[in-house]
Amino acid sequence: MNNPVRNVESLDLLVNATQQFERALIWIDGIKEGIIDFLINPKRTIHLRFPVHLDDGSIKTFHGFRVLHSDVRGPGKGGIRYHPDVTEAEVGALAAFMTWKTAVVDIPYGGAKGGVVCNPKKLSRSELRRITRRFVAELGDNIGPHTDIPAPDVYTNAQTMAWIYDTFDQFHPGENNLAVVTGKPLEIGGSLGRDEATARGSWYATEQLLGRGMVPGLESLEGARVAVQGYGNAGSTAARLFHDAGGVLVAVSDSRGGISNDKGLDPRAVLAHKEETGSVVGYPGAREISNEELLAYDCDVLIPAALECQIRADNAHDVKARLIVEDANGPLTAVADEVLQQRGVVVLPDILANAGGVVVSYFEWVQNLENQQWTLEKVEKRLNAKMCRAVDETVDRFNELQARFESGANKGAQGPTLRDAALVSAIHRIATVILQRDIWP
Ligand code: NAD
Repeated sequence: MNNPVRNVESLDLLVNATQQFERALIWIDGIKEGIIDFLINPKRTIHLRFPVHLDDGSIKTFHGFRVLHSDVRGPGKGGIRYHPDVTEAEVGALAAFMTWKTAVVDIPYGGAKGGVVCNPKKLSRSELRRITRRFVAELGDNIGPHTDIPAPDVYTNAQTMAWIYDTFDQFHPGENNLAVVTGKPLEIGGSLGRDEATARGSWYATEQLLGRGMVPGLESLEGARVAVQGYGNAGSTAARLFHDAGGVLVAVSDSRGGISNDKGLDPRAVLAHKEETGSVVGYPGAREISNEELLAYDCDVLIPAALECQIRADNAHDVKARLIVEDANGPLTAVADEVLQQRGVVVLPDILANAGGVVVSYFEWVQNLENQQWTLEKVEKRLNAKMCRAVDETVDRFNELQARFESGANKGAQGPTLRDAALVSAIHRIATVILQRDIWP
């Protein structure tokens, strides 16, 4: 009989992040309560309210925040999202994911995230520019190349990062301020390869995971049936890279619905169709499917690359993939994780799978500090090395936890997942630095 799931399902990202963290703690002996408390809660949350002139002459007060979850291993790092529904809890969870992610791939950062409650679809470019400039001015020295370094996230982009840089630079004349923000346009210190980095990193990680024999019945991407939810930056790039590596792209979707073809879709032609019509739906030579059907599609590899909490208690039993590669942040609830574990579906967790984006952001920061511009080849080679090493460390940790489980040492646990292994490694790495720095007076 299956073990009952231990978590109560919530669609709140922060609750899921906490459940994942608490599940990983089962595998860690001797960590002091005070350190757990310090790791689970954000170090600092800044709330700001600021007025901005709109194009129609009115003035609107906006609400923004920046959560610095941890700066134990280096400055905070994480995106800024502009969205009408963004909340402190959501940003807090995403900031925590960044702390674990930067530790898993071992780059010298902590975790952070920010947001402004606004609807970018209803704001003009100049209104967005004024919101960004005022937000950055209000943040003052709470961001900086060595304190907290923003990046793009939902509905912010390279242009937003250029405004952030320029505003910060005005307040710090005569200094090299490029490294205050990453994801900038190439012409002002952006890095080659940043656009593709998230999906490329997830492809490198998948190849390495399959090479380590971690997915029973799936040794390589050659001939593997791949389905992708979300056809934006991460999803469309992953679709192309997994296809070019020998996978057969059988289904994709976006916010308007999905399409499938068991003989294989051409990812470039699907992207061209989306760019022309606004959606993958209507692509010739494909069957239309719903997003629910996409998640349950008969495939080997499922790549959620859209939103959080997409695979839950109510649909985790329908997943047919052998491997889920989490390009999105938090696409599975903690309960779905347990259901999939019991069903033998392997999950390459977000804090490892989609870390390529922050790895190349780190490369951009290094280039900015050193006034260098790396070639694309160098960026991709170093990204590959970082991702493969992180996968190897996670698999080794998984094997160690599995051996402990089989020896009966962890009686309360269900056996480890790759997410547990990645989190355990991250927590060890951060706790070690806390103890070495001896940060309590
Ligand atoms: P994006 O805005 O470029 O693309 C999102 C895609 O999801 C769009 O195609 C949209 O139509 C689709 N979508 C929205 N609602 C959907 C639904 N209900 N069902 C199916 N598809 C839906 O965003 P992105 O940059 O590709 O990010 C996607 C995910 O990856 C997010 O969770 C993001 O946090 C995560 N991520 C992105 C990066 C990055 O560098 N872009 C890095 C790390 C994590």
